[in-house]
Amino acid sequence: MGDARDHNAIPCDGCTECCKSDQVILRPEAGDDLATFDFEYIESALYPGRKVPALKRDPRTGKCVYLEERGCAIHGRAPAICRRFHCARTFKALGRMSRAQRDALWARGDVLEEGIVERGRDRYRLAQSLGLDQVIDVEMQVAAFEALAAPRRR
Ligand code: SF4
Ligand code: SF4
Repeated sequence: MGDARDHNAIPCDGCTECCKSDQVILRPEAGDDLATFDFEYIESALYPGRKVPALKRDPRTGKCVYLEERGCAIHGRAPAICRRFHCARTFKALGRMSRAQRDALWARGDVLEEGIVERGRDRYRLAQSLGLDQVIDVEMQVAAFEALAAPRRR
């Protein structure tokens, strides 16, 4: 359970959308111990030109291998990105981008997931109704989106 005034206070209400489709990149610098996870090296839009460790996903469904019927099987020790991510943040950060930048992010095809952005819209509205929208910090997310929306060098 998170602090009552951080993004974890915005309930997921049983949703597991981001465990079904997102890359879960492991970050040893943020405390992730690679030896404790079932992972593989993948390509990611966030780290162009190199392979990074990420949780394995079921090749048939695309779901995280730790996603079970009742939710995350490693909830108490989930990777840093799982503890940091919230779709409401994604949606709020997109609201800070220009139309052209949003279009560029969608056009890439490897950054935004429609289901997560839709869920983010719903959760952001819920956050607003709970008076929690201001606790969602977006500076890092906006910076990442700006970099990804910038024209790519060939
Ligand atoms: S998509 Fe949003 S509401 Fe669903 S599990 Fe992820 S953070 Fe929670
Ligand atoms: S480790 Fe848990 S929270 Fe993270 S993507 Fe997998 S099932 Fe979801």
